[in-house]
Amino acid sequence: MTTKQIVLARRPKGLPVAADFRTENITLPALQEGEVLLKGLYYSVDPYMRGRMNDVKSYSPPFQIDAPIAGGVVASVVESKSANFTTGDLVTGFLPWRTEIVASEKLISKIDTTLAPASYYIGILGMTGLTAYFGLMHIGKPKPGETVVVSGAAGAVGVVVGQLAKIAGCRVVGIAGSDEKIKLLKDEFGFDEAINYKTTTDMEKAIAVACPGGVDIYFDNVGGTISDAVIANINFHARIPLCGQISTYNSTEVPTGPRLQSMLLTRSVLMQGFIINDFQSEFAEGIQHLAQWVKEGKLKFTETIIHGFDSLPTALLGLFKGENTGKMIVKA
Ligand code: NDP
Repeated sequence: MTTKQIVLARRPKGLPVAADFRTENITLPALQEGEVLLKGLYYSVDPYMRGRMNDVKSYSPPFQIDAPIAGGVVASVVESKSANFTTGDLVTGFLPWRTEIVASEKLISKIDTTLAPASYYIGILGMTGLTAYFGLMHIGKPKPGETVVVSGAAGAVGVVVGQLAKIAGCRVVGIAGSDEKIKLLKDEFGFDEAINYKTTTDMEKAIAVACPGGVDIYFDNVGGTISDAVIANINFHARIPLCGQISTYNSTEVPTGPRLQSMLLTRSVLMQGFIINDFQSEFAEGIQHLAQWVKEGKLKFTETIIHGFDSLPTALLGLFKGENTGKMIVKA
């Protein structure tokens, strides 16, 4: 049997382009005991994938040239040589970008679509939701009445962080890159205020106006000058969960900016970087809370769905142009 796969053709310089990827057909090996044949249904594209396209040591190894890109996938079982899975089961796992995938039973887990739509398992009930949950709850430690600012607020992690902060009784201010996103954050996701960083000339002042009592928690998804402006408004004993720095992922030089350490020092601020796998032993607790809130309608989610397996590279690149609202996924 043949499958289509998308491989890394060469390492990008700066913002990736279509020629950094290659689509090709390969023959799949015969199924062995303990393996399943899967048909990919939904594929996750995530900003961290850009880092894995570089040949640098990081928390996850770089993608190899001529090898398939890999990420979160929801798939259906087409054929099984595993006692744990039968044809028709829906599963999720960290899998290669292939239309049909041979996977070990150890790499996949079943999903429950009575709880939430299948695609949510690579979104709010997957890495995205868990990142928002542990970053905010375990590092941010929100208290009722505090002010929380979220950058990348209309993205997959951001919309969840804002709603979790509201559940915790906080005032929430989001930062995002279009007027449509600003409206959605306030009208659909319950943010108290939202700022369009692309049309605001003085971000530091805009944050001061939106947060008259200062910022108690800054959930940082983007870094760069947006974060400089938020941190200028940071309160004594504030917490900064350092989740992502998407504004620098395509930088070809080391970005420089204000040296913020003395501000963090004099205001006794905690800034803590984290990788979601730091919390792996507690994932079950996180999923349980998130699923409960989704079921109760307290936590909403939104997705930007791009159609067609071949669109995976375009969808990934779209993340760096703000083309998604909520989770960017590709439906095969
Ligand atoms: P998003 O869904 O937020 O997609 C990316 C968004 O980032 C875009 O829609 C765009 O929105 C915004 N963006 C793109 N370029 C820039 C820029 N130069 N400056 C400011 N904003 C920009 O992605 P995720 O929710 O999946 O991830 C959010 C962040 O969290 C990322 O930095 C990611 O790497 C990080 N992350 C970290 C994890 C961890 O374990 N620490 C796990 C998962 C994600 P806009 O229109 O507003 O510009």
